[in-house]
This record gives sequence, C-alpha cells and structure tokens, in this order.
Amino acid sequence: MEEVGTGLLDRLDAMQRVAASAPGGPLLIVAGPGTGKTRTLTHRIAYLCAELNVFPDQCLAITFTRRAAEELRHRLDGLLGPVAEDVTVGTFHSLGLTILRENAEAAGLPADFRIADDADRAAARAEAGDDDDRYAALLRKRDLVDLDELLTLPVALLSGDRKLVREYRERWKWIFVDEYQDVDAVQYELLRLLSPADGNLCAIGDPDQAIYSFRGADVGYFLRFSQDFTDARLVRLNRNYRSSAPILAAAVQAIAPSSLVRGRRLDPARLDPEAPLVGRYAAASVADEADFVVRTIDELVGGLSHRSLDSGRIDGRSTSLSFSDIAVLYRTDAQAAPVLDALARANIPVQKRSHDRLRDRPGVLAIARELRHAGLDGSLAARVRLAGQVLAERFAVPTLDGSGSVRPEDVRTAVDLLTPLARRCGDDLGLFLSQLATGAEVDALDPRAEAVTLLTLHAAKGLEFPVVFLIGAEDGLLPLRWPGSEPDDDAVAEERRLFFVGLTRAQDRLYVSHAARRTRHGAERECRPSPFLDVIDPGLFERFGETEPRRPKDRQLRLI
Ligand code: ATP
Ligand code: MG
Repeated sequence: MEEVGTGLLDRLDAMQRVAASAPGGPLLIVAGPGTGKTRTLTHRIAYLCAELNVFPDQCLAITFTRRAAEELRHRLDGLLGPVAEDVTVGTFHSLGLTILRENAEAAGLPADFRIADDADRAAARAEAGDDDDRYAALLRKRDLVDLDELLTLPVALLSGDRKLVREYRERWKWIFVDEYQDVDAVQYELLRLLSPADGNLCAIGDPDQAIYSFRGADVGYFLRFSQDFTDARLVRLNRNYRSSAPILAAAVQAIAPSSLVRGRRLDPARLDPEAPLVGRYAAASVADEADFVVRTIDELVGGLSHRSLDSGRIDGRSTSLSFSDIAVLYRTDAQAAPVLDALARANIPVQKRSHDRLRDRPGVLAIARELRHAGLDGSLAARVRLAGQVLAERFAVPTLDGSGSVRPEDVRTAVDLLTPLARRCGDDLGLFLSQLATGAEVDALDPRAEAVTLLTLHAAKGLEFPVVFLIGAEDGLLPLRWPGSEPDDDAVAEERRLFFVGLTRAQDRLYVSHAARRTRHGAERECRPSPFLDVIDPGLFERFGETEPRRPKDRQLRLI
C-alpha cells in the first residue's frame, strides 16, 4: 500500500494534482489520450478520503467496461488499502443492478429476479415475435430482467420516488464517471437523478475519443456539462505520458480537422530524439500487408529480445519485446482473417477480441427482425442476405426500440457481420438468435497472455501497447464507406476520431499500412490510402513498401 497523506499527490504532475485535489462540486476533467485519467481519478478518490474526511463508502466510481472497473479497483486497493473495498466501483449496468436489487419490490420485481441469459431471451423472442411490449411482459412473468432494463427500470423507479433519490444522494455524495464522452441518454438520466446539479460529480473524458454515437452515445452531454451542472470547474490535462513524440505529433495532426476540443493540445512527456518515426507501409495487396505485419513482428520480438541481452534500452524502456506488447488494430472485423492466417502460418500466438457485441451494431437488430418475416426462404445465410437487400432498399429503417433510424450502409455492414454466423448455424434460427444476443465475442482478452492481440479500433479504446499496427488505413475503410454512398460530415468526423483512438494506443512504435487492392463486398477494388493520412506531416513517416524499391535486408532491419 502506498503512503496516504502528504506524499499522496507527489506522483502526479501539476495539472493532475489540480484535478485530484479540486474541492467539491461539479468537476469536468477534459483530458486527451495517455494523459493519466485513471491515475488522476484514483488519486482524487484517495486524496478525498485521506485529506477531506470523505468516507470511501460515499464514493461511487462508474466506468464503461468491466475490465476498466477491475483496473480501477486494483489501483484503489494499492492506494487506499483494505478500505478501498468500501468504494462502489462498477459499470453503469452493475450500478443499475445494485439499485434494482435494493429496491426489487418497489420496482415490481421479486427479490430473486434474474438477468435474462441468451437462452431466456431467445425463448421469449421466439414466443413474442416482433411484439416488444409482449416480449418484456414474458420476461417479467418469468422473473427476468433484460440488460437494457438494468438502466431503464432504475431510472423509472427513481423518477417517481423523490425520497429514494434523496437516500441515494445521501449515500453516494461523490460520483466519478470515466469516459463521460460516451454517455447515452439513459445513463445521463440516471446520473442526473443520482447527482444534484451542484453535486460532487466528477466527469472525466475526451470528446475527441467519442466513438459510440451509433449506439446512442452523445458527446453533447460532455460538451454541455457546465450548463447542466452549476458552477462546474474545468481542468484540462494536456501532458501525454504514453506515446513517443513522433506518434503523438502524428495523432494530434490527424484529429485537428475534427477536434471538438478548442485549442487541442497534447504535449509529449517523452522526448527521446532517437524515437523511431511512424512506419507507413504501402502494401500491394491484403496478403502483402499481412506478411508485412508478420515479418515485422518476427523481427521486433526476435531482433530486439536478442539486443536486450546486452541490456539495450530504447527510450528509457527495456527493448525486450514480447508478443503481448503488440496489437494489430483494424476498422472492420473482416480484416482480421488474413492477418490471423499469416500469424498462424508463422506460429505466432495470437488472441482476438471484439469489444462490441454483435447485437449492438447498427443494422443487426433490424436484420434479425426482418428474418422472421414470411417470404424469405433458403438457408439462414441466404435469408440474411435477402433481409439485408430488403432493408437496404428502404431509405431509413426504424430500429427495434424506435429510437432512431438505421442507414442502408449499416444494414450492409450488418449483413457482412452476420453471414459467417448464419453459415455456422445452418438453418437453426433459434441458435442464431441466441448467439447474436450473447455476442459470442465479448471481453475475452487476457492482458497477460503471451500473444499478439487483434482487435477492432472500437475495442482498443482505453488500452495501450508498446507496438501497434493499424492496418487497412484506406479510403473506404477509414472512413468506412459503402460503394455508391458517401458518409456525411458527422460520420466522417466520428471515423476520424476512431483513427485518432487507434494512433494513440501506441507507446513506442506505430505502423500504419494500406493495401493497393482489397476485396470488399464481394469484389476486388483498387484502394487509395486514407485521406486521414494526408493531414499528417510526411516528415513524421518512415515510408516503405511497394512504392519504393525493395530494400536490402540490413536496411529493412534498421527501419524496424
Ligand atoms: P485514454 O484516453 O487512452 O484512456 P488515459 O488518459 O486514461 O488515456 P492512462 O492510461 O491513465 O491514460 O495513462 C497513460 C499512461 O501514462 C499510463 O501508462 C500511465 O501509467 C502513464 N502516466 C500517467 N500519468 C503519469 C505521470 N504523472 N507520470 C508518469 N506516468 C504517467
Ligand atoms: Mg483511460
């Protein structure tokens, strides 16, 4: 356990210290990637408890993923010792569950209600068909609560019970929310109920990393924090501890045209003149791109661990890299397959994770729904394609919850995503729907596994790796586009933020690659590099690949 008290804030820089020791009241911390948000948040909680006589059980810290919650808990343990257990740390969903458990009867639920699992959901869906209201009633009859209801039911309960609101406000006097830029309407409502307008709500985030608007997140809540909460204090953290100076410079230039932060600044804390430039590889094909990734990983892990024998250090860090230091990031899941194959052929261990549940993707629900309509026949895979065509022809498709509309390109993406699953399920619609509900691919990432990590840009948020490959930096993938359709300005801005998130995951080495030809939507096409690369100073890149003559081996090694 670290010393609590006067030395507590010594491990923070000046602005982090200002944020961590700010007095009570609404507090907004606008902080770019790698500026130490988690470190600041945990130290603030420890500081409040140690210095301002705040009781740990008055603190509620909310994150967006279980993984982030575990990390926060772990760091709090280190700072506060056993009393850290009294801090309530969790995701929005676990918070909702706590409130429902404590008030089951008032919410009209039996004390022993259960969260519906995939089989429960599939069964209720199969019985209720398209009738969402009926679906909810079936779940209720079986003492089940759906995931979405973990938020909507507490909001409904608290909205109608001022006494209960007062009780919770009394209990959690200090509330902390990480990644506030990705809050959606229901989460926001819950926060407003739990925190008075002049309450001790500390929101941390980065509007330039808002990448979940397709799922209902609204960066507007972040941008109008000081209107929503009285006399809000604003602290900016600009010092980036994660990335080398060239990586950071490239990232800052990349976000500039869409930045939502006035006067966006990110100052590198790491100033090593020897830091390698950003590698930019122009691949002839997707296979060539995958080979490049494998070749480079081979050289990095083999070559550098060899050099570390004479205790070589780069940039103040040990040069011995292992597979777990490396991540390959991509825009669409379909891009993973060629890299997975190439890594497998080279016997390089790999783990793949997608943070997004399939059913959360725009378009997916609409297709599941359409599938049940009469008139579609053939195998499941054929029906998925057919459903996609039907939906894409309509200009806008209402989503299941009626909260918005799905764009034709979302539907086509969803068809691409669902087809492999549909193939695996043969003709079993029930199996297909239940797999869809679990999202087969949630949170399976082990940060300690000795393997290269493959993940989508969305899933990479909040993580950091010494070496990052961002593959498929092509027009059409970044920004994502379907043939014959143009993304609007807002969509391009969100894609650019996603690109920014990807670049800023890298600590020491970043490689950006693009292929000259790629098969998408069933046809091979010529590809241009992503326009997002155009705004980056060419001097920050070390270019290699097909546009340049093949380099002799020793030159290639030196580049890496
Ligand atoms: P993101 O927006 O990507 O989630 P973040 O702001 O949450 O980024 P962290 O992951 O908390 O950033 O920190 C980035 C890295 O910088 C971590 O490795 C952390 O240990 C380090 N770091 C943060 N603050 C300091 C500091 N004051 N001194 C040294 N290292 C620091
Ligand atoms: Mg973070």
